[in-house]
Amino acid sequence: MPAQPSHEAIVATCGVLPTPTTIAVANATPEELHVLFDLPDSPALFAPAPDDDAAATYRAQVSARLGHPPDASALVARENGFMHRIGAADDAANGELLLAGTVGVFANPNCIERMLFSRSAAVASMVERPAEYGAFVVRGKGRVKLYVSTFGRTRVQMRPEIGDLLEADVKSGMVLIAHAHNHPFMFDRSVGDRSFTKPETVDDFGASTAPSVGDVYVYRSFRDELQLREAWVSNGLDGVHYEQRDFDVLKGKR
Ligand SMILES: [Zn+2]
Repeated sequence: MPAQPSHEAIVATCGVLPTPTTIAVANATPEELHVLFDLPDSPALFAPAPDDDAAATYRAQVSARLGHPPDASALVARENGFMHRIGAADDAANGELLLAGTVGVFANPNCIERMLFSRSAAVASMVERPAEYGAFVVRGKGRVKLYVSTFGRTRVQMRPEIGDLLEADVKSGMVLIAHAHNHPFMFDRSVGDRSFTKPETVDDFGASTAPSVGDVYVYRSFRDELQLREAWVSNGLDGVHYEQRDFDVLKGKR
C-alpha cells in the first residue's frame, strides 16, 4: 500500500482565489459555469498544503458520516469493488494500478487544489450537494491561469471554447502544467438522482482518487495536442498526482 499523506503543514496558508473572469460557452446548462483565474506565479501555489478551513470542515463532516476518518487507499479499494460490480473493469484497473504503486503518488493537495475545493465548498455544501470541478492549470510569463469548469453536478464535460483558450495559451509559449479535478464523497444517494445513481451504486459513496477511463481519455487528448504534463485528482481531502507517463499505463476510454 502506498504511504498516506501526512496532512502536515508545508505552507502556512494558501490564500483565496481572486475574482474570476467568466467564459461564455454555447448552449450552457443551467448550473454550468466556466471561469478563469489569473494569478501571479508563485511556487507556493504548487506546494502541498495542510487542510484549510474548508477541508477541515469537510473532513469532520465526512468522518462523522463514515464513522471514522477517511483513508485514501481504502476509498480507492472500496470504489474498485463497485466498479467491478457494474462491469467497469477498466475503471477498477486504474484504482488497482494506483494501489499497486504503478501509477500516481498520494500527496497532500497543493494550494491550487485547496483553493479550488474551498471555492466549490463555498458555493454549496459538498456533503449535501456534491459537485465536481475540472480545472486546467497553465503557467508562464510570470502568471498561473486556472480555467475552472463546473456543472453543479458530479460530472464535468469538456467544452471546445476552453480548449481553444488553452491552445492559444500554449501557442503563446505558456505550459499546460496540469488538469485538476475532484471526486467528491456522495452520500444519501438514490436511483436517478443528480449524481447519476444506478441501483448498483446507491451505496457507492465515491471519493476514489483514481481517474476514470473518461478522465484518462481527456488526459491523453490534451497531452497529445497541448503537451499536458500532469493530472491531479483529489477527493477534497487527499490527492494523487499522476505524471505524463502514467497516462499510457492507466486504462482510457477508447
Ligand atoms: Zn474523474
